[in-house]
Amino acid sequence: MTDPLAQWYETHGRHELPWRETRDRWAVLVSEVMLQQTQVARVQAVWPEFIDRFPEPKVMADAGVGAVIGAWGRLGYPRRARRLWESSAVIADAGWPEVLTELPGVGRYTAAAIRAQADDEDVPAIEVNIRRVVQRVDGRLLSERAAELASVRLGRGLRGRDRLLALMDLGATVCTPRAPACPVCPVRRRCATRGPLPNEVTARQPAFEGSFRQRRGLVMARLRAESKVPIAELDAEALAALVADGLATVNDTDAQLP
Ligand code: SF4
Repeated sequence: MTDPLAQWYETHGRHELPWRETRDRWAVLVSEVMLQQTQVARVQAVWPEFIDRFPEPKVMADAGVGAVIGAWGRLGYPRRARRLWESSAVIADAGWPEVLTELPGVGRYTAAAIRAQADDEDVPAIEVNIRRVVQRVDGRLLSERAAELASVRLGRGLRGRDRLLALMDLGATVCTPRAPACPVCPVRRRCATRGPLPNEVTARQPAFEGSFRQRRGLVMARLRAESKVPIAELDAEALAALVADGLATVNDTDAQLP
């Protein structure tokens, strides 16, 4: 008999996401970095053009960090763009490292996600959606390692790439943070809670309106739109933070992308 999760994934998985069509490591890395802190719909709107412009690490490395930060557009958290460019320079110079976490901005999850999706390795990877699903099924909060093992148990009808994407899609579309659709969930028979855990932490993004992040974003928008902007016209504190993060440079009078 077909595994219910595998069956659900075949029918309801988000196979239309553009980065699901590729097995190219670089393209997968770019999508994963974008998805780290940005909603899928916003990444979907930007990723195709971005990967067309920077189809391989050397193209990005040669383009320079300013071009990458500029192309990052309004995805937010532009430090990711800088780290992506740093990764492109490492790969262009010396090839992909044996251990992917050696790349700037690539942690345990992203490294495993690349190996599973691009290299078709049968490795588990835990991001926020998968963690929520496996914890609810197990009925308790889990360490990273325990969650990895639980994901392999829950996705036993699948392997590597398909297991990762099936559990991710289940968490994003059925086992959602506040209103999980338990009656239509393919793993409900195995689920200990059939709802949120009582002690579950639901991370909320801090309010953007009025935040320092918004102030930084306004300065970034000016720098992306104009080659040079007089310092006197910019929020000094936000600009200083961007300079400290390597996202802007200044001379005596003007600021610009690096
Ligand atoms: S039964 Fe409900 S809580 Fe359990 S995994 Fe499915 S959607 Fe999540």
